[in-house]
Amino acid sequence: MAQDEVFFPVRKTNWVNIVFFSITAFLGVVGTPIYLYYFGISASEILLFVFYLIVAPLSITSGYHRLFAHVTYQANALVRFLFLFFGAAAYEQSALKWASQHRDHHRYVDTERDPYSIKKGFFHAHMGWLLFWERPIHYENVKDLQKSRLISHQHRYYRIWSLTSGILLPLLIGALTGHLIGAFFLSVCLRLALIHHATFCINSVCHAFGKATFDIYSSARDHWATALMTYGEGYHNFHHHFPADYRNGVRWYQWDPTKWLITLLEKAGFAWNLKRVSRFRILAAKLTAENQRICDQLKTDRYIPNLQTILTLVNTHYEKLRQALSDWERSAKEYQDLLSKRIAHRSDVIYQEALYRMCEARGRFRHSLTMWHALPRKRLALA
Ligand SMILES: [Zn+2]
Ligand SMILES: [Zn+2]
Repeated sequence: MAQDEVFFPVRKTNWVNIVFFSITAFLGVVGTPIYLYYFGISASEILLFVFYLIVAPLSITSGYHRLFAHVTYQANALVRFLFLFFGAAAYEQSALKWASQHRDHHRYVDTERDPYSIKKGFFHAHMGWLLFWERPIHYENVKDLQKSRLISHQHRYYRIWSLTSGILLPLLIGALTGHLIGAFFLSVCLRLALIHHATFCINSVCHAFGKATFDIYSSARDHWATALMTYGEGYHNFHHHFPADYRNGVRWYQWDPTKWLITLLEKAGFAWNLKRVSRFRILAAKLTAENQRICDQLKTDRYIPNLQTILTLVNTHYEKLRQALSDWERSAKEYQDLLSKRIAHRSDVIYQEALYRMCEARGRFRHSLTMWHALPRKRLALA
């Protein structure tokens, strides 16, 4: 029980956070327009602002989140250092503390132990947990990260790291380009306010609004507008269901610059061992969520006379669909195994037969899917 107590947050006003968030937001949102009105803006100020608005949050998403908290890939020392350096510039705590709280968020999501649980309200999940609550960090869940001297150093000397990368460096660049005050308003205050609230939206907006594509029972949602603001982190329902995948926006067209950066780092040889969940597992999760949604909706409709018949029909189609999907997966694996082992030439009969079996299985799956999509009409006819 004593171990359990350290997980629970207690009410305690954090004045340091209140003052810090208030000052940066006020100076950023009110001070910046006044400064711009009187002094205008130069190209160097825009460049520095844009640079920090890209590099600091990307270090959080690619580094703090997907590399350190979830270990969805490996990266070399230079990349790890840069993520720690510019991640500190976002003023979102040390990577170790961030990862510990985030791992607990995934493990205990929507419960009392979730550090930023949406069950305590939208504001609590957004930033209330940082202002009015204190939750002792146990660090038991980040022992793997504590082995890294770089991560431990950033944690121990976090104030120096964050001050250097988040405030002193932009001010120094501002001073060297003759725009010290502009750098303070734009690249420190306004930039911090924007990054903070964009990040907070993942814990609030993405647990309140959007689509539950892969898990209908989790509060996490896929919210494309938040993904736009957070370099791809808004596809949160997928992320909670498959946290080990380095992608959050899993489809190629989904806005996830973090995933593109990681892929780029892999191509350059700076990152490796990128973890991807197979498309069959992703498709299976999507179909399961869809089936659960249909069944739940049917059960809540009191005006359906033959509910049991319809539920049986829905579940029969669903089972057929899942069977067709696993047949397709098996035949695809068989074909891929042949290719990777290079047993014979691609034109040989053994390949042709495996390819045929895979195409046939895929065809059967697509047919089952069409039948599945036709279900709502059948359901209405039966009702
Ligand atoms: Zn979440
Ligand atoms: Zn996560």
